[in-house]
Amino acid sequence: MLTQNLGYPRIGTHRELKKACEQYWAEKMSRIDLFAVARSIRAANWKTQQDAGIDLIPCNDFSFYDQVLDTSLMLGAVPKRYSPVLSRDNGKHEIDLYFAMARGYQRDGLDITAMEMTKWFDTNYHYIVPEFTADQQFKIFSEKVFEEFNFGRQVLGVVPKPVLLGPVSYLLLGKEKEAGFDKIDLIKRLVPVYVDILKRLKVQGAVWVQLDEPFLALDLSPKEKEAYKQAYAEIRKQCPQLNILLATYFESLHENTELAVQLPVDALHIDLVRAPDQLDNVLRLAPPTLSISLGVVDGRNIWKNDYIRSIAHIKKAIAVIGRDRVIISPSCSLLHTPVDLALETGIEPEIKNWMAFARQKLNEVNELNEILAHNNNGLLQDNLKAVSGRNLSKLIHKPAVKQRVDAITDADANRTSVFVNRQQIQRGRFKLPLFPTTTIGSFPQTDDIRQLRARLKKGEITQQQYDDQIAEATISAIRWQEQIGIDVLVHGEFERNDMVEYFGERLDGFLFTKNGWVQSYGSRCVKPPVIYGDVNRPADMTVYWSKFAQANTKKLMKGMLTGPVTILQWSFVRDDQPRSETTYQLALAIRDEVVALEEAGIKVIQIDEPAIREGLPLRKADWAKYLDWAVKAFRISAGGVKDETQIHTHMCYSEFNDIIEHIAAMDADVITIETSRSQMELLEAFAGFKYPAEIGPGVYDIHSPRVPTVHEMVSLLKKAADLLPAGNIWVNPDCGLKTRKWPETQTALINMVQAAKDAREIFAEQPV
Ligand code: GLN
Ligand code: ZN
Repeated sequence: MLTQNLGYPRIGTHRELKKACEQYWAEKMSRIDLFAVARSIRAANWKTQQDAGIDLIPCNDFSFYDQVLDTSLMLGAVPKRYSPVLSRDNGKHEIDLYFAMARGYQRDGLDITAMEMTKWFDTNYHYIVPEFTADQQFKIFSEKVFEEFNFGRQVLGVVPKPVLLGPVSYLLLGKEKEAGFDKIDLIKRLVPVYVDILKRLKVQGAVWVQLDEPFLALDLSPKEKEAYKQAYAEIRKQCPQLNILLATYFESLHENTELAVQLPVDALHIDLVRAPDQLDNVLRLAPPTLSISLGVVDGRNIWKNDYIRSIAHIKKAIAVIGRDRVIISPSCSLLHTPVDLALETGIEPEIKNWMAFARQKLNEVNELNEILAHNNNGLLQDNLKAVSGRNLSKLIHKPAVKQRVDAITDADANRTSVFVNRQQIQRGRFKLPLFPTTTIGSFPQTDDIRQLRARLKKGEITQQQYDDQIAEATISAIRWQEQIGIDVLVHGEFERNDMVEYFGERLDGFLFTKNGWVQSYGSRCVKPPVIYGDVNRPADMTVYWSKFAQANTKKLMKGMLTGPVTILQWSFVRDDQPRSETTYQLALAIRDEVVALEEAGIKVIQIDEPAIREGLPLRKADWAKYLDWAVKAFRISAGGVKDETQIHTHMCYSEFNDIIEHIAAMDADVITIETSRSQMELLEAFAGFKYPAEIGPGVYDIHSPRVPTVHEMVSLLKKAADLLPAGNIWVNPDCGLKTRKWPETQTALINMVQAAKDAREIFAEQPV
């Protein structure tokens, strides 16, 4: 049997690419040196894969920023606004154009905005959205794929497998930048360019080419299906000699199975981790010329493979289509996993023995092949020991936690009274003005604060010294908020590194890696916590600082928590129980914290759920089930407090229109939500739906240092009050202010408070 890999992390074992890119952007590294770093990462990756015994090793899976942006450059889909970048005599190269598209370009008297970025399917990786115009033309522009193929061949001594984003998925990932055309119709202009590329690769000696078509596993319109048929018929006709492997992942082919297996290609890759049920259908329908690549090793998570389960899939495939037509593979590109578990020295050995990062996953592919080819029972037994050890481990399983989840009742997910009654009680209690002002939680995390944390970690200062400094920062933030007249204060989150990590560090069942970095976008990497066991809250997590902050002001101090769905979404999660189960455990832990805050005298508590939307399944048919448990989890976390306690939630940077009724079903008393970039467009959805509770539409975008004027914010508030009852509207920024600097934050918030005052004057006459 053949083994293959679909893609390997390109950040480098020690994030070399991040460091090199950032140095290059800061003009502290030359282009030559940047390219040298990139080459050494590629060479090391290829070597790793070769050593692991992988037959079809990918090339062109490397990217300086993003593989979709690479594709746009390869196809010459460069928006016109970038043409000045290269047309001047300024010594700039293709790579500078490329980075300009990714990051914007502000130099040489030019000010060009970056291309939009959005999430890659349901991952935390972000891609650069292609921009299309009605007269869009394509041509081979960047030579990267050809160069990488040659270089790979030279390094490996064998022929690598170029990876390209397939033409239909490429178009579907993009955006029409003007009206009057449908991007999918561009397929006729696009396919000839793909044909040219494939022909050139063939001439260079390519044997296999991988075309990623993840949209085949999503809901497709008849027109999109037709595009698939025509595109691949043409490619086959023009390139009869090249072996084409079509890669799907993240979901099941479902009703698209017939379409996919009928496409005239040589191999079809399917994700058997996410969608094991599709195997039977695919095997049954596959024509005799089609090989099937079985994605059995999880490319999205960090757990060791269960060989017994994988072997069952592989054996089934062998029985139906024969050994020669079976390829063993990870489920998707390993881009979404950290690089090397061997670097982790701090993880408890028992737990580490359950885990596998990208390098270990390649080994698993190889071992599966080895077991099937040579009946290697030793390998099988080792794996069995690890997997069954995990199933039984006391480190994971805490009967009390499981019992508590089993005992959750509907009452736990409900507040005592309905919103209108709570609102009356809370209004009587808080006596807030019309258009009350607040912020989303964090204040600027200055270098001083970051250094403080670093020094505590290194043991250079004591916990006491650290706490004293945090206390000082908190008090000064409180004084400042009082001074400018904010109504509901926040403590500033100075004690928190990250909104998930902070909670993970205080909950049982979590572990943290030292080097478990995964690319999020461009040079930005994240290190998600690992939820390995039943989640339990051994002690208060935020009460100390919230209580401290409330004790230092007569104003209302908002407690600040991260919600269960967001914690789940931004962690590596258990694969030995449904995600919903883990979320309910998290919900109970947050619930206990909410109740503890209430007992400590905190009257307003915010539970952030910025990630609730991104957890939506890729297939619409699965939405209802997800929303059901996600909303319920939030309600459980908020459901333990009295009517007089006001629960806020916060969401940002997603499209919320299509889940508005579920947001309402979360039954928060107040939601603060990102709206300023869309000029309050989102509020139309809230108004149309008659959103029942109070709402703080962000009146300014915190992702830019730009300070909004009072006038701008008043207009936004007027717009909001046109759509929703003025008495339900709060005034706040779009999101937390952690990434901002103090000077712009101060001016912006002073303006914001003034805008609220102006709006109060305007609306004072009107009944609330
Ligand atoms: N409370 C968090 C903060 O202000 C919310 C961050 C977020 O929405 N991503 O930082
Ligand atoms: Zn936010």
